[in-house]
Amino acid sequence: MIRDLIDKNLYDDALSLYIEMVKDVVFPDDFTFPLVLMACSSIVGLREGQQVHSHLIKQGFSIGNVYVQNSLMHMYSSCDKLHFARQVFDEMPVKSLVSWNTMIAGYSKLNAHVFVPDCRGLQDAILLYALMRHRCISPDKFTFTVVLRACASVPAVLEGHQVHAHVVKFGLESDGFVKNGMVDMYSKFGDMGYARKVFDEIPNKDLVSWNALIAGFIRLGDMGSAEALFRDMAERDIVTWNAMITGYARSEHASEALALFRQMQAEGIRPNAVTIVGVLSACSLLGALSLGMWLHAYSDEHGFSSNEYVSATLIDMYAKCGDIGKAFYVFERMPYRDVVAWDVMIEGFAMNGRGQEALRLFERMKMKGVEPDEITFVGVLSACSHAGLVDEAFKHFESMGSEFGILPKVEHFTCLVDLLGRAGRLRDALELIETMPMNPDSVIWGALLSACRIHGDIELAECALQHIVQIGSDDAANYVLLANIYSKKAKWEEAVKVRQLMKSKGLSKEPGCSLIELAGEVHEFLAGDVSHPQYSNISTKLDDLVRNLKAAGYVPKIGSALRDMVEEEENALHHHSEKIAVAFGLISTDPGTMIRIVKNLRICEDCHCALKLIARLEGREIIVRDRSRFHQFCKDGTCSCSDYW
Ligand code: ZN
Ligand code: ZN
Repeated sequence: MIRDLIDKNLYDDALSLYIEMVKDVVFPDDFTFPLVLMACSSIVGLREGQQVHSHLIKQGFSIGNVYVQNSLMHMYSSCDKLHFARQVFDEMPVKSLVSWNTMIAGYSKLNAHVFVPDCRGLQDAILLYALMRHRCISPDKFTFTVVLRACASVPAVLEGHQVHAHVVKFGLESDGFVKNGMVDMYSKFGDMGYARKVFDEIPNKDLVSWNALIAGFIRLGDMGSAEALFRDMAERDIVTWNAMITGYARSEHASEALALFRQMQAEGIRPNAVTIVGVLSACSLLGALSLGMWLHAYSDEHGFSSNEYVSATLIDMYAKCGDIGKAFYVFERMPYRDVVAWDVMIEGFAMNGRGQEALRLFERMKMKGVEPDEITFVGVLSACSHAGLVDEAFKHFESMGSEFGILPKVEHFTCLVDLLGRAGRLRDALELIETMPMNPDSVIWGALLSACRIHGDIELAECALQHIVQIGSDDAANYVLLANIYSKKAKWEEAVKVRQLMKSKGLSKEPGCSLIELAGEVHEFLAGDVSHPQYSNISTKLDDLVRNLKAAGYVPKIGSALRDMVEEEENALHHHSEKIAVAFGLISTDPGTMIRIVKNLRICEDCHCALKLIARLEGREIIVRDRSRFHQFCKDGTCSCSDYW
């Protein structure tokens, strides 16, 4: 009867029946106990399991019964009580292979109901395997599958290679499961040569090994090799598609991610929550708002919106596409919000220049009893920075340690440097960098350098760049920034020197690139780009714009040493990617429609000045998301950043 109930997954009923049996003074035997313990494992019933264990002892059951003892170990490891399982294991006078496997699998959390990687447990699994080998007990393919997985997850490279040698020694290298385990292990080690070699030896490759190999290439950021494998696959499952889409989105190849998503739909594969999150993050990168909105509707329709992870990504997508109202709408409708949702919303407000709203939300978060984390404070401090609230920022910064026990990291100090820089307190910012408890990185010096640009402090800018060079950062943007500071002060020779230094170091500025989405399609423009099919219309509009701008009093801000070639330089300025994208947006949309642009670099002063005028002259709201923030150019000719960026 008990077995029958367990076969039907009626574990509680099986346990009730067992209790009746004990009450009736019918003695359980060594067939009963394993069954009842299995029921306890299945419902993760530690209390019930311990009762059965005590019955075992009361009945004077011999610990010599391997089968019963194995069931007991399995029960304890299912309930995540590994030290109890180990005690049973250690007291067993005779152990079978199953005993070893059960204990190793327990340490690897293979028996547990929720898999949470636990490095110490995994190392214990590897140690127990070593003990097993020491006692000359032959492992089987189950042992290997578990140990390989443990080595992969730690990662334990040396041990992994030894296990590989044992696999060969025991003649199991042709087993499919073991092979999959090895491909996965080498992929996780980042040793793609070995992974590929083992993979090529598998005669009938199944999806698991394909997916493991692809995942390995993606982890290394080698999307080319991943893509080649992907194309070779005869069949793909959702894991494959998700790995590729997420891989592309994470490596900022957003258009490829979207293209794959379209192909996936064309092939009739149904996306799941992981897919949606991957595609949404691609939308955020590209500023593809209408596709993002479509995904939102799709998520509502297919029940993904209740997934917290999907909701948080939706908030992030709307915030990064500049639709902060929609982001807040999603946030307010979440039935349950974890700290990630609050963080994303606070950061969303901050980067959209809504500092006060971000801070109000932070107060609400604390009132709701949600414990803030490090990321929350990056959002809070940058909100203060965007809103120019110096005292408030320092108050929050103090509270990190005193109220929440969070140790400030260099990111938090960077926010403060940005804030002080914005407020014109450059010397205070420098002092903060010099006295903070950790070594400054190139990002924090970069923040100071940006502040020097706004306030035209050449001496400090030189000092900041020196530090950046010393740290060994080769971000060309910093050199360009210093060159611009020199140009602004008409120090042409120095500006030329910086550009030459850049050249001698083989650094070139990342080309400017602006994206604009129209009717679900993302158009990309590079600086000076003439490749767009509608280029002649765009060019006419650009000339128009420049004429109107000049009539309105605009003077091109030529910040370069090439004074003799003013005309050429001016022409280059007018063909910065964001200007081309805006011209295209103006001719392709109805009058009055808002124009949204995503730009990969920081917007230059000339474009900033020109776009403010264009917004006024054309009566259009223009939103530009550059590398660090949003600029909302309003119809009255102002920008939401108050000209500080
Ligand atoms: Zn520009
Ligand atoms: Zn601005």
